[in-house]
Amino acid sequence: MRQVTFEPTSVTAFDLYEFGDGRGPVVMITAGIHGDEQTAIHAARLLVQRLGEEPVHGKVKVVPVANPASFRNRTRTSPFDQLDLNRVFPGSPAGSQTLQLAHRLWEEAQEAEYIVDLHCAGWGSVPYTLALYQEFPAMREVAIALGIPVVVQSNGTRGQLFVEACHAGRKALIIELPGGQPGGFVDVAAAQMACEAVQNLLRFIGVLEGEPTRSDVVFYGRIQVLEAPGPGLFLPSVRPGAVVDEGTVLGHFEGEPVRAPFAGVAVSVSLPRYCFAGERMVGIAPLVRNGIGGGAVA
Ligand SMILES: [Zn+2]
Repeated sequence: MRQVTFEPTSVTAFDLYEFGDGRGPVVMITAGIHGDEQTAIHAARLLVQRLGEEPVHGKVKVVPVANPASFRNRTRTSPFDQLDLNRVFPGSPAGSQTLQLAHRLWEEAQEAEYIVDLHCAGWGSVPYTLALYQEFPAMREVAIALGIPVVVQSNGTRGQLFVEACHAGRKALIIELPGGQPGGFVDVAAAQMACEAVQNLLRFIGVLEGEPTRSDVVFYGRIQVLEAPGPGLFLPSVRPGAVVDEGTVLGHFEGEPVRAPFAGVAVSVSLPRYCFAGERMVGIAPLVRNGIGGGAVA
C-alpha cells in the first residue's frame, strides 16, 4: 500500500509552535478556530515569525490554524459535522470530529495561565478585545496590557474556548479583528496590530524582554445588534469604531434613520447592502458608567 498525497494539507492535525526557556508563565495563542477568519490566522503566523527572532521566557504555544478542516473549506463550521468549534469546548475524545478537536485543543490549553484566542468580526468591524471582565476582574489587566483601545464585555456564551477557560481559572480572552468572514480575506494592518498587541502583553508578563507600552483602553458593555426589521436597503453613515451619543444616526434603512439606542461605540457597521429581516446592520456596545471601576452598564 502506498499513500499518495495530492495536497500538502491535513484536516486531521494542527500545527503547534512552541517557544521559550520554560522559566515563566505559559501562554497559549490560538487562531483559526473559525476557519474563515483569516486576519486572525495571519496575525498568529506573524507572531510565530516574531517569536522566532527574540529571547522568549516561560512558554508560548501558538496554534495559527486551530480548525484545519474549516480553514481548508473556508467556513466557520466544520465540513465534517457542521459544528461550530467555538461552541463545544471542552469537547470529547469520543465525539464527532469537531468534539475530538476541541478536546485536543483543550488538553493543550491546560498548562496555560494566559490564553488569547484570535478571531474576526467581519468586514466593517473595528478591532476590539472581547472579555468577561465584569465576572473576572483580572481580565481587565490583560486587556490593558494588550492595549487595544476598545474592550467589550462578552455575553459569556458557554462552549467557547475562552469562556470555558475563564471558568476553569485561566486568564483567557478574544481579540476580534476586521476581515475574515464571509469567505476569508486578510486585513493586513489589523493582523500586524494584533501581533504587536500580543507582544505587548508578553512584555507585561515578562515573557518577552523590553518595556511594554501603556495605552488607554475604554471598557464597554455587551454588544447590542441592530437588525434589519425586514427586507430593505441599509446605507451606513458612521464608520466602524465611531463613538456615538444616544440618538446619533448610524445609517438609514429604507430611508428611515437608524439611531443609536445609547451612547457607545459602533464596533461593526455593515457595508451598504440589501438586508433581510434579522440581519445585522450595526453592532453597538454601550459606554460603561463609573469608568474602569464600574460595571453598571448604561
Ligand atoms: Zn470567530
